[in-house]
Amino acid sequence: MDAATSAGSFELEQELNPWLAQEARFDEAADRLGLDDGLTKVLRTPSKEIIVHIPVRLDDGRLEVFTGYRVQHSIARGPAKGGVRFAPDVTLDEVRALAAWMTWKCAVVNIPFGGAKGGVICDPRLLSDFELERITRRYTAEILPVIGPERDVPAPDVNTNEQTMAWIMDTYSMHVGHTATAVVTGKPLDLGGSRGRLEATGRGCMMVALQALKRFGIRPEDARVVIQGFGNVGGMAATLMARAGFRVVSILEIDGAVHNPHGLDIPGLMAHRKETGSITGFPQAEDIDPAEAMFLDCDVLLPAAKENVITSQNAARVRARILCEGANGPSTPVADQILAANGVFVIPDILANAGGVTVSYFEWVQDRQGFFWNEDLVNQRLEEIMVENFGRVVDYAGKHGVNNRIAAYMLALDRVAFAIKLRGIYA
Ligand code: NAD
Repeated sequence: MDAATSAGSFELEQELNPWLAQEARFDEAADRLGLDDGLTKVLRTPSKEIIVHIPVRLDDGRLEVFTGYRVQHSIARGPAKGGVRFAPDVTLDEVRALAAWMTWKCAVVNIPFGGAKGGVICDPRLLSDFELERITRRYTAEILPVIGPERDVPAPDVNTNEQTMAWIMDTYSMHVGHTATAVVTGKPLDLGGSRGRLEATGRGCMMVALQALKRFGIRPEDARVVIQGFGNVGGMAATLMARAGFRVVSILEIDGAVHNPHGLDIPGLMAHRKETGSITGFPQAEDIDPAEAMFLDCDVLLPAAKENVITSQNAARVRARILCEGANGPSTPVADQILAANGVFVIPDILANAGGVTVSYFEWVQDRQGFFWNEDLVNQRLEEIMVENFGRVVDYAGKHGVNNRIAAYMLALDRVAFAIKLRGIYA
């Protein structure tokens, strides 16, 4: 590798580091707000980071050790809140970034939580349900002293689900000696879950996309939507958007992409995937190259799979009018600049996918009250929060001459900094 190539790959590696990506936006927002040096230091640093190495007995009798993390970025505005992901490529920097994003996300939509995130390095595709249960329970036991309804409330993220949350809730409850449903959110309905939680992130994406389309004078039935990821967020967004009349023209998955310019039959595509294991080969659509699908001419591009899918290498090829970030961290800071120069209207992740944590907040409230709301009430309250804060972010961006992402960070930082100032620094 020559020096120029090695410098280029180092730069790309830096660009793709989620913690550095978070810091770059944080620094710009802090600078524009004129945040004082001390508070900047406090908010730039996660408040607690836990690394656990957990022994787990595999089904074949072997003993394996898995590494897990829990990072609490801030508890200034309330208990820490954030998901747990199981994936082979989880890193401490990724978990740190996701924890900080949770702090900013909860502050942007003004719910009384701080930010946290957790992860275990493992490949769920290679593990049985019993092995996943043992990993989950031992991980929970190791982080038990720092979690709890008043301390830190985990939730599902990539490769974890309602069942994982039930295991965490049960393990925690066995240790504290009573059933503590409010220790996690995203639980099954029968164990204190909230109606509407499963759909909430995708629904929130749809709600803010609708607001953005209104600004462009585009009706949902004229909006062409491309979605990357057909999992919880992307699958729900696709279902709800199709039901609301949007034309979901392409879905990209890890193993291929499908396209129908007239709009895909989303329930049909779900049934096809269930039957065949893949979205490809769907009779009412054409298989296309996923690398091309991302760059189709469309009104809304909704990345809902993973980080770093829009980078310096491809941002110039984005032909969407609106980029609605369902995933956490799908665009890098370098991509931000290219998208802004090309006039793409970005609904940043910390706002676009905040519907999930908002309904998690409702779940936590319902668990603590022991009184459960109907789905219409959940969706109505979600809509109030998403629409109000979308408007706030976009107006703030206009007023301060910054892009939507920096506006969202500025609003969030300001709220968290204000809480810290009011509380003062202990000791
Ligand atoms: P998920 O595991 O349910 O779905 C992700 C989907 O993306 C999977 O179907 C996977 O096959 C697909 N995928 C992975 N890599 C891909 C690629 N390169 N190209 C196309 N598809 C690919 O996860 P999820 O819960 O839907 O989360 C997706 C993203 O949304 C993550 O960034 C997560 O942090 C974020 N998020 C999730 C929630 C939530 O409530 N679940 C809330 C906020 C943010």
